[in-house]
Amino acid sequence: MNEETLAIRTTGLTKRFGEFTAVDSLDISVRRGSIFGFLGPNGSGKSTCIRMLAGLLLPTSGTAFVNGFNVAKDPESVKSTIGYMSQSFALYKDLSVSENLDFFGEVYGLKNERLRKRKDDVIELLAMQPYVDRRAGILSGGWRQRLALASALLHEPDLVFLDEPTAGIDPVARRDLWNLLFQLAAEGKTLFVTTHYMDEAERCDDIAYIHMSRLMVRGTPIDLKSLPEVSPEGTRRLAVECPSPALGLAALRDQPFSLDATLVESEVHLLVHANTTDEEILQAVRAAGLDDVSIRPTTPSLEDVFVSLTRSLNSP
Ligand code: ADP
Ligand code: MG
Repeated sequence: MNEETLAIRTTGLTKRFGEFTAVDSLDISVRRGSIFGFLGPNGSGKSTCIRMLAGLLLPTSGTAFVNGFNVAKDPESVKSTIGYMSQSFALYKDLSVSENLDFFGEVYGLKNERLRKRKDDVIELLAMQPYVDRRAGILSGGWRQRLALASALLHEPDLVFLDEPTAGIDPVARRDLWNLLFQLAAEGKTLFVTTHYMDEAERCDDIAYIHMSRLMVRGTPIDLKSLPEVSPEGTRRLAVECPSPALGLAALRDQPFSLDATLVESEVHLLVHANTTDEEILQAVRAAGLDDVSIRPTTPSLEDVFVSLTRSLNSP
């Protein structure tokens, strides 16, 4: 893929803090106009990587191009074309929503008529009209995140980094925020999002999963679920529906045929040896006093993907 179609391209991107390597030889590329999900456990290096890509932290080695600019050589050009919603967005609690937008607009160099116009645009886009005069300190988590997103969009960046934008907000606010992200992507913006929520990862065009500072896997959600490591030969995945899924899980988890077991909504999802019969599974749940059980084949979830890959890495 050429530069024109890429919003981000990194080669061997690395950040060390003293002896510790926080981001290790990362190679990723992000297509313009896509939603890119950046996943990994806490401490795996996601925020450090974003700070390098946003031109805020100098890489130790490797290169990164963002919107065609080299982050190490031209961080100011990078900053002027990206928005950054940080994990700990610091709004001014004692200022109103409107005053916060004035403040962040000025930080981005917007003035007078242009600032007024852009403020009106983002207030409309994020439906913040009823809140403009409200003190930012009393906004709910969801509205605080909207204000953060509004601030990151003021200078019309092509690319927005959102570092755990939905952490700690309620499900309705979470869905509303994602609908906004889809709208922005449809308008051609590139979104680089970190999250711990698998349903959010499902909504991304591409995903990179990092573990202990290194890229473990990348691809579309469908690519990742088709990886051979996730559904090893000689195994199959089943969904077991029974009246008490928690009891069902307890009954199935420790069976010799069970390679992995977890609850997904109200079903037990099992990875079993391919030669396991439905009858063996039924017997195990019946022994726990559960009747009215049904079994059907299922496909791996993204959670299954990351659990399988992490386990295969940790096993000798
Ligand atoms: P994530 O966002 O995936 O949770 P971070 O990028 O915040 O991970 O952190 C990755 C690792 O780098 C952590 O172990 C963290 O303590 C370390 N780290 C981050 N920033 C610094 C810093 N300025 N100095 C030293 N260590 C840091
Ligand atoms: Mg982080």
